[in-house]
Amino acid sequence: MQYSEIMVRYGELSTKGKNRMRFINQLRRNIQSVLSIYPQVTVTADRDRAHVYLNGTDYVPVAESLKQIFGIQAFSPSYKVEKEMSLLKKAVQEIMLGLYQEGMTFKISSKRSDHSFELDSRDLNQVLGAAVFEVLPTIQAQMKQPDITLKVEIRDEAAYLSYENIKGAGGLPVGTSGKGMLMLSGGIDSPVAGYLALKRGVAIEAVHFASPPYTSPGALKKAQDLTRKLTKFGGQISFIEVPFTEIQEEIKAKTPESYLMTLTRRFMMRITDAIRQQRHGLVIINGESLGQVASQTLESMQAINAVTKTPVIRPVVTMDKLEIIELAQTIDTFEISIQPFEDCCTIFAPDRPKTNPKLKNVEQYEERLDVDGLVARAVAGITVSDIGPELASDPVDDLIADLL
Ligand code: ATP
Ligand code: MG
Repeated sequence: MQYSEIMVRYGELSTKGKNRMRFINQLRRNIQSVLSIYPQVTVTADRDRAHVYLNGTDYVPVAESLKQIFGIQAFSPSYKVEKEMSLLKKAVQEIMLGLYQEGMTFKISSKRSDHSFELDSRDLNQVLGAAVFEVLPTIQAQMKQPDITLKVEIRDEAAYLSYENIKGAGGLPVGTSGKGMLMLSGGIDSPVAGYLALKRGVAIEAVHFASPPYTSPGALKKAQDLTRKLTKFGGQISFIEVPFTEIQEEIKAKTPESYLMTLTRRFMMRITDAIRQQRHGLVIINGESLGQVASQTLESMQAINAVTKTPVIRPVVTMDKLEIIELAQTIDTFEISIQPFEDCCTIFAPDRPKTNPKLKNVEQYEERLDVDGLVARAVAGITVSDIGPELASDPVDDLIADLL
């Protein structure tokens, strides 16, 4: 027998009262977007659960995708069976024969939403339980915590059988908390920051600063690949490339080495904030952490943050580098992040950035620059593209591609 659909149970959103339908619709759209890589799959959602119809698609990769989507508490693959008692019995017997191992206990748990069906749920439990004893005479029925709980659901269109309950990612459906701009470099930290924001329901748009020809097409592609990795948690993400060359050259020409980093970051923050406003984002998210390098101090954070009143979320600020790396490995961004393409900051970064930049000095150096004009030109020059999920690559295909 082949699975026909996956029943999806919602996570935390059940506590959200009136907003429930908004949450559910958002989650349905997210599931649709993530599963768009499987063209046959369709998704519906009602108040209690969502249904993912496989329509012939292999269950295993779809389940792997579902495990990543935020807002899902658990899901169960199900068999669809015609609502005919003899067929139901046969299906139940076949499933139990496949599952049974010496000494296992079981129960049948039936539910009937089609009230015109010939048997009610109690009778169904009995008749189908008896069918199990026919083929497995020594199996024990047990009501409390049996090894196998076979769920039988009689719905209008058909009956559905399931026995597995697979844990989902939890979190909130991406988009239900509003939208934020993720400052995405090619590094290890910012993709992890993005992931953590997505987990709490914040939809993100990725803002990436590129300084060609100082930065390579490889660095840009790296940021795009990282963005694609983040789409598996809630679907499509807009990728915004900001032309940053003019600004970096200007800063480099007119600012003392020790303040290059601070001024560069302040420009990034201003530009991200302007883009946020244009595109109706509520917050800025970045991958800043403390103490990894000399520039990552609270004084530095304060000097950079001073250009905006917009809330800046720094999800990894309190994490150790090793913890961040571990998460990066879990979400599969680490291997991309360590590819050796320099981003704009590495190239223009001084050896010894100021660990304690003074706002008075910063402002004085910025007076030498046409701050408003530089920001406006960068914002006017952005390119926006939509990045969608990708099919997990087949290791065998990859091997063949490498050999060719
Ligand atoms: P990451 O690992 O995310 O690159 P990092 O530890 O290298 O972070 P910094 O280089 O100090 O830290 O950068 C701090 C944050 O500034 C980054 O996490 C990112 O949010 C943002 N940022 C840096 N460079 C860029 C860039 N080229 N485009 C977009 N955001 C950037
Ligand atoms: Mg970096």
